[in-house]
Amino acid sequence: MKFHLDTAQIYVPDGLPEEQALARTTHMGISAHQDDLEIMAMEGILQCFQREDKWFTGVVVTNGAGSPRTGLYGHYTDQEMQVVRIKEQKKAAFVGEYAAQAFLDYPSSAVKDGKNQAAVEDLALLIRTAKPEVVYTHNLADKHPTHIGVVVKVIAAIRSLPEAERPKKLYGCEVWRDLDWMVDSDKVPFNVSDLESIQMALVGVFDSQIAGGKRYDLATMGRRRAHATYFASHATDVTTGLNFGMDLTPLIEDPSKDIVEYVLSYIQRFADDVRGLISSNL
Ligand SMILES: [Zn+2]
Repeated sequence: MKFHLDTAQIYVPDGLPEEQALARTTHMGISAHQDDLEIMAMEGILQCFQREDKWFTGVVVTNGAGSPRTGLYGHYTDQEMQVVRIKEQKKAAFVGEYAAQAFLDYPSSAVKDGKNQAAVEDLALLIRTAKPEVVYTHNLADKHPTHIGVVVKVIAAIRSLPEAERPKKLYGCEVWRDLDWMVDSDKVPFNVSDLESIQMALVGVFDSQIAGGKRYDLATMGRRRAHATYFASHATDVTTGLNFGMDLTPLIEDPSKDIVEYVLSYIQRFADDVRGLISSNL
């Protein structure tokens, strides 16, 4: 498979040839950085774990060069950091039994450049080859600029495909900003109650990000547990782990739909909900 950058690569944990490995994909996660997939796309990973008929493929768009580093990794150069982060993502792909894990290896600056079409073309190639039914990526209200760069490129990539080759569902997921603020009817709840130990392992292998006191492992599990309890105020918990998704499918079904207006409509419904609750008490 030929990507724009020579340094891009595909890792297949069970050693199948690339195209064959990708062809079995049913669920795909596309993230900016190593470890985002395990934070945001756990529903897809769990649905495919230990299944013969469902397979998760991960795609990481950036090279991880700008990662923060402390402790054991404090003296690492950008180059060494990229090697560590790819190794960690491969560990996760192995533990999580992914169909394949692609690394597109772009610097963040390219991802945040709206004019850069290379990553869009690489993503379109991957999606056309893997034909996932469901794609998980960053949500449009995330606060990390590189995450927004990725979701915009994912939407562009899918829109560039003929309708028959587009995934059935596209979800924006939680990393930097959760989606608890959306009104309940807008939330797509992902039940991530099962296989807690696998979930913990999958976030835990990214030691270079956790070392030095950034406990993504605990925070990620904590967010899932908190959502499970706080989702329904008048009912007992039906799950022990929840993530929320923003349904971005309308944006790929109708390529003329304005992306900014689409996410602002979610914010408007949130504003209306806040206004309505207070107004009814005045
Ligand atoms: Zn990230």
